[in-house]
Amino acid sequence: MSCQNHDEPDDGDMVAAPPKIPVPEEVADAVRTLLRWAGDDPSREGLIDTPKRVARAWREYCQGYDEDPAHHLSRVFEEVGGYDEIVLLKDIPFQSHCEHHMAPIIGKASIAYLPENHVVGISKLARVLHGFARRLQVQERLTAQVADCIWEHLKPRGVAVVIDATHACMTARGVRTPGVGMVTSRMMGTFREDERSRKEVLALMGY
Ligand SMILES: [Zn+2]
Repeated sequence: MSCQNHDEPDDGDMVAAPPKIPVPEEVADAVRTLLRWAGDDPSREGLIDTPKRVARAWREYCQGYDEDPAHHLSRVFEEVGGYDEIVLLKDIPFQSHCEHHMAPIIGKASIAYLPENHVVGISKLARVLHGFARRLQVQERLTAQVADCIWEHLKPRGVAVVIDATHACMTARGVRTPGVGMVTSRMMGTFREDERSRKEVLALMGY
């Protein structure tokens, strides 16, 4: 059995691998305790470096704590040629972790807004999403945080965020129902008040 394709931080070909941070001994010990608790032997060869890898991986999964996602919305463009229709970034893949089990949440998000005089670089919407996703989350809060952040800082006429994700805590444990997706949405401004706008944006998103 091998997981070196995605779990070997030493192979040098990972995209934007973060610099290796020192791992405090108490953190490595905590992972060893967990390995023992899971039923394995942390001193066997294959697990020797696992505590450090797990520790560094968790800093990476939770990188969002080190940033303010609103920062990505600070640079706006006023030259939009009178464009005042929906701007939509569709099916953005993301990963997060649930705060109840620290298990992966894997899904896609669609983020739309109705500009009022100015727009942001389209990739910034994805950056806002990742800034909140790279934390321990519940999907409902993630959805609300992304929408609220865009609403507050971009001040558009409307915001729509729909997130569709599977939760490993549901698919790999507990009720073990693979393939079940959870959909959450938050509509603000025009998308909340006007049913036609809401239907239009949901149709563009493919719902
Ligand atoms: Zn969970």
